[in-house]
Amino acid sequence: MNNKEFWFVVGSQFLYGPEVLETVAARAQEMVDTLNATGNLPCKLVYKVTAKTNQEITQVVREANYDERCCGVITWCHTFSPSKMWINGLVNLQKPYCHLATQYNLEIPNEEIDMDFMNLNQAAHGDREHGFIAARLRMPRKVIAGYWKDEEVQRRLGRWMRTALGVAFSKTLKVMRFGDNMREVAVTEGDKVEVQAQLGWQVNTWAVGDLVEVMNQVTEEEIDALMEVYRASYDIATDNLEAVRYQAREEIAMKKMLDAEGCMAFSNTFQDLHGMEQLPGLASQHLMAQGYGYGGEGDWKVSAMTAIMKAMGEHGNGASAFMEDYTYHLLPGNEYSLGAHMLEVCPSLAAGRARIETHPLGIGGKKDPARLVFEGKEGDAIVVSLIDMGGRLRLICQDIHCVRPIMEMPNLPVARVMWKAEPSLTTGVECWITAGGAHHTVLSYDVTAEQMKDWANIMGIEFVHITKDTTLEGLEQELFWNDIAWQLKGLR
Ligand code: MN
Repeated sequence: MNNKEFWFVVGSQFLYGPEVLETVAARAQEMVDTLNATGNLPCKLVYKVTAKTNQEITQVVREANYDERCCGVITWCHTFSPSKMWINGLVNLQKPYCHLATQYNLEIPNEEIDMDFMNLNQAAHGDREHGFIAARLRMPRKVIAGYWKDEEVQRRLGRWMRTALGVAFSKTLKVMRFGDNMREVAVTEGDKVEVQAQLGWQVNTWAVGDLVEVMNQVTEEEIDALMEVYRASYDIATDNLEAVRYQAREEIAMKKMLDAEGCMAFSNTFQDLHGMEQLPGLASQHLMAQGYGYGGEGDWKVSAMTAIMKAMGEHGNGASAFMEDYTYHLLPGNEYSLGAHMLEVCPSLAAGRARIETHPLGIGGKKDPARLVFEGKEGDAIVVSLIDMGGRLRLICQDIHCVRPIMEMPNLPVARVMWKAEPSLTTGVECWITAGGAHHTVLSYDVTAEQMKDWANIMGIEFVHITKDTTLEGLEQELFWNDIAWQLKGLR
C-alpha cells in the first residue's frame, strides 16, 4: 500500500493566460497536499499536471498505464477544458478513473465576484464538458461531486481509491487450488480462462500430496512458535493440543506454498485430503485472519473475492470473510439467516475473542479438527457472490444487518453469524435464488455495496444489488434486460 499512488490531473486550456494557469496549478497542489494530510485517503495522491493540450493528456495517460505505482487517475476541471483534446488519451486509459466534480472555493463571494473570478472558477461548466466525453466514450468511471474539504467527499474518494486498489490487487491475484472442487457441485465451477482475461486471476492447481510433503518437513520449533501466536490471539478451549498442533503444521505448510508462489488465495475440499489427518480448520481461519482468501469445497471464485475484499478493506485486512448460508429462523416477524461453515469462518468477524475447540466432523471421515468458534459481531454488512453465467460473470450483492445471535446454540461447534437480509428474509431469498446467487458468499462489514458496484463497473462485469427497495418483479425485469444487454455487448 505504501508505494501505491493515485494521480490528480487537472484540465484547462491556454485561453486564460499564464497567470490563471499558474493559479490553477498552485491550487491543485494545495488541494492534493490538504487531502493527503486529512488521513481520509488510503494512499498518496500525486498532482501530475494541469493539462492544456491533447499531447499532455495522451502523455500522462501513457505514463499512468505504464507506472505500477499508479492505481488510478482522478481528474477535475478548475477551468474549462475542451474535451476533444482528451479523446486520444482517454480511449487508451487502462487505470480506474474518477472524476472529482469539485470547486476550489466553498462560497460565491458576493462583493468580490466579477468576470475575472468567473473565468478562474468555472468548474460548474468545465466539469460538464469533461463529463460529456467520458459518457460519449462509454468509459467506466466514478463521478464524485462536492466540496473537496467536505469530510464525506473525502471519505467517498477514499473508498473509491480502496476499490481501485482492489482492482490492482485483482489483476495480479494468484489462487492456489489444493485439489479440485467438490464433486457434482455446479456453482463452484467457472471458466478460469475467461476469469483471467476479465479479472486477471491466475487460478491453478497444486497436488494435495505436495502439501503433505511440505507438512512433513515442518519442524516442532516452527509449530511451537505458531502455537504461541494462537495462545496470544485466541482462548484454547480444548485438551486435544495435538489436534491444534496438527492445524499449526497445516497452516505453516500451506503458507509456505502460498508465499513461494505469490498466491493470496487458496481453496481445498474435504473430498481431497489424501495423506492429511484433519481438514484444515483453524489453519485456514488463521490464514484468512492474515489476509489470505479462502473458499471451501474448492470454490476458487469465492476465495479470490474474499482476498480482494480483504485487500480493499481497512488496513488491507478488514472484516470480510468467506461465508455460507446455512439455515433459517422462520418465526414470523422474527426472521433470521444463520451463516457458518463446517469450519472455516474468518475470526475478523468475531464479536469477542475466538475459542479454539476440537469436535468431530460429520463428513469426510478424518480426525476431529481444531477450529475457531465465535459469534459474529453486530452491524450493517453485505454478502457478495460471483457466479459464472456462461459467457459472462455476474456479481450479486445483498444488504444485510448482522445481529448478535438471538440464541446460544451451545451444541453448534462452529463460528456463526446471524443476520436479517433486505428487503426481508423471504423476498431476499426469492431475489437471491432468482439471480442465481451461490450458497457461498463473502460477508463484509467493511466494504460497501457502492464499492462492489464500482469494482464490477471497472471490471466490466454485471452487477445486481438486492436492497431494502428491491422487489422480485423489478429484479426479474432487470435480469431479463441485463441478459439482452450483455448479449448485445458480446460475450465479454
Ligand atoms: Mn461450503
